[in-house]
Amino acid sequence: MSGSHQFELTMKSGRKMPAIGLGTYAPKESEGEVITAVKSAVRAGYRHLDCAALFRNEVAVGHAIKHLIVEGVINRQQLFISSKLWNTCHQPDLVRTSLKKTISDLGVGYLDLYLMHWPMTYKEGGDFVPRDESGKVIFSDVDFLDTWKALEDCVDEGLVHDIGVSNFNSKQVLAIQNAARIAPSNIQIEAHCWLSNVRLIEFCQSRGLTVTALSPLASPGNFQTHLLDEKVLKDIATKKNKSPAQVALRFLLQQGVGVLPKSTNPTRIAENINIFNFELSKDEMQLLFSLNKNQRLNSEEISRDHKYYPFCEDF
Ligand code: NAP
Repeated sequence: MSGSHQFELTMKSGRKMPAIGLGTYAPKESEGEVITAVKSAVRAGYRHLDCAALFRNEVAVGHAIKHLIVEGVINRQQLFISSKLWNTCHQPDLVRTSLKKTISDLGVGYLDLYLMHWPMTYKEGGDFVPRDESGKVIFSDVDFLDTWKALEDCVDEGLVHDIGVSNFNSKQVLAIQNAARIAPSNIQIEAHCWLSNVRLIEFCQSRGLTVTALSPLASPGNFQTHLLDEKVLKDIATKKNKSPAQVALRFLLQQGVGVLPKSTNPTRIAENINIFNFELSKDEMQLLFSLNKNQRLNSEEISRDHKYYPFCEDF
């Protein structure tokens, strides 16, 4: 994507993904707040919702979607809905069941995009994060290439249009691409001014994957220091008559990266999509790149010992 007015990223399959999606991971919020957030977002112009079984609120998201459709605000085809296969469900015979459950919880008939949430696998059939008596996560031994084959079968069956991965490193992306019958359309990775992740972004884009950024605002609700307080961001925002959040999102968009900001606040939801009417200069982009400190916020440290843990590699 170049320039300022593009709202969609084109995937290898030829299908388009809206470049901004609402992040729906809201562990501290009630179901009612999630429903209000999704309704506000669609009314504000969002057409992409980023969901996951792990978020444990797909029924609430589905409730909002149903209301919006019944009220005539939107129809299913106008929405782009993504979700993710959790780590306890990588066994090929569990993949279709998990996807069907997500589709049923969301009440949407099919998904636009389904991602493997992580390359690591946890013990099947119990908690989202199964642990032994010492508190250690219990892993399972499923090759993510076998999981990929089961995802391809789900595309054949029409349950999902596009498939991809999340939190994979460059070698793992390559392994999938080399083995795939249906190429990955998208990778969702952490990216923001503090973790530019530029090598992985450019690697994936050069291999034809669209890239979307999780935690694009560096998750200010979950940490003591906030990216949005950075002076560089604030100064650029003042100059552009925009907010620091809008500048942080625009920084990613101008790299051709889709953004998935989470908010359950209707004012901030509207603010976050108002990013298509201004442009950051080369110098401003450079200044924002200089904030990078490779600070990863979603590191899933609990499974660092897993053989597929992604963040040991260079990128
Ligand atoms: P984020 O979007 O970077 O930050 C969300 C936080 O920023 C919330 O506390 C929100 O509070 C606040 N916020 C939103 N807009 C704001 C604004 N304009 N000004 C000031 N504060 C603002 O981080 P995230 O929630 O970690 O990630 C976003 C999405 O990425 C998730 O919802 C999920 O869809 C996806 N994700 C995926 C993975 C994965 O493993 N694939 C991991 C993490 C996240 P309010 O709600 O109060 O506005």
